[in-house]
Amino acid sequence: MTEDILINVTPFETRVALVEQGAVQEIHIERSIQRGHVGNLYLGKVVRVLPGMQSAFVDIGLERAAFIHVGDLRQNRKERSNGSAITPIEKLLFEGQSLMVQVIKDPLGTKGARLSTQVSIAGRMLVYLPHEPHVGISQKIESEEDRIALRERVIRLSVPDEKGGFIVRTQAEGATDEELVADQSYLRTLWNSIQEKARSQPTPSLLYNDLTLAQRVLRDMVGPHTGTITVDSRSTTQSLLEWAAAYTPSVLERIRHYSGERPLFDTANVDEEIARALSRRVDLKSGGYLIIDQTEALTTVDVNTGGFVGGRNFDDTIFKTNLEAAVALARQLRLRNLGGIIVLDFIDMDDAEHRNSVLDELNKALGKDRTRMTVSGFSQLGLVEMTRKRTRDSLAHQLCEPCPTCQSRGNVRTPRTLCYEILREILRESRQFNPKEFRILASQDVVDLFLEEESAHLAMLGDFIGKPISLEVEGQYSQEQYDIVLI
Ligand SMILES: [Zn+2]
Repeated sequence: MTEDILINVTPFETRVALVEQGAVQEIHIERSIQRGHVGNLYLGKVVRVLPGMQSAFVDIGLERAAFIHVGDLRQNRKERSNGSAITPIEKLLFEGQSLMVQVIKDPLGTKGARLSTQVSIAGRMLVYLPHEPHVGISQKIESEEDRIALRERVIRLSVPDEKGGFIVRTQAEGATDEELVADQSYLRTLWNSIQEKARSQPTPSLLYNDLTLAQRVLRDMVGPHTGTITVDSRSTTQSLLEWAAAYTPSVLERIRHYSGERPLFDTANVDEEIARALSRRVDLKSGGYLIIDQTEALTTVDVNTGGFVGGRNFDDTIFKTNLEAAVALARQLRLRNLGGIIVLDFIDMDDAEHRNSVLDELNKALGKDRTRMTVSGFSQLGLVEMTRKRTRDSLAHQLCEPCPTCQSRGNVRTPRTLCYEILREILRESRQFNPKEFRILASQDVVDLFLEEESAHLAMLGDFIGKPISLEVEGQYSQEQYDIVLI
């Protein structure tokens, strides 16, 4: 099955959609102002060493100080892998020290970026380890024969004075000697320029910026299953062609510039898919639907039948809905890039064979996803638990923020609830203070209710406390916001 890649470029963001048979499967967005930091190399300054936590804070010029754990210091790499005692952090780092560091995890929420001093720079087929004279092979290359052959080739093709090492990526399978040599020399040249910068630049500073989203797409997403790569910006097309000529020549003929009148993403309804991937509810063709809730700790997917389910084919309808749901939810997990623990609540099925078929369908649908996952069977409560490796932020985290009106509860108190809250508050304040008048500042809906259906209650309270109560609409207020002013 071929996948086409659409790249939509604007000065403020780059968006990539992976489309298979007309259906969007993956969305990647990179905003110019919030490009990720993973892979970037910095010259940082140690600002605090915390022996108790065996970690240190390092200023790399980002908003929040980054941190490094003792196990991520390259001096401790051997010790960590063979299980012997590691050198404590206070023996290796001191405050004020300059340090070349690489970001291994982006800042997330209130946490700063996580760093390592074991530098590695990814090329097309190889990852360069400048401090480590060792050639490793990606675990995804399974054949022992291939692994040995690739290791020998990479060693043979390395320059004699090579001080660093390489990890051979899966992309190297089938690579020619020329391609491997080109990748090695690109990486060595890059490393030399990084070292030069580290000697000449002030602390903290950025030494190496990881590839742009569009470049990474060419490096990581394109494979034999890729059809066309369509880009709607002439200058990006040009720079991608140049980059591809240097690093991924096999991709060259698949890159094309789109200059149509219609926005590129409209041609595959990508924006509609993004909007759908941000909503809680996903409708299924059969009339059933999914409810997807993302919380801090986990994501739940609840499968529901739509409305009436005929009595005679009850089991069959449920089975079919669950099968459809398995495919739809696998796609949604990928589209939304949901990670961590995911709990799937299928509609209860009594038939063990039906349950197995739904699991099979789920595993098959998840098989297209490159992200690492684990899937359990049905638990005693009929739930399927799975994990999906958390990589980038989810689509919702990237594009949305908590709703300021309901604080993401998903509900707001009704105008009537607010009216009664306000009446109680005035009663409370009338016992404490002695103003001439109370004035309610509230949203239009709340004021309207006080003027109409709740006017009698408002008048009653006024009589009871012996003070006039006036109303004023505050257009800026959300439904739940109000103020009681003492005049
Ligand atoms: Zn809300």
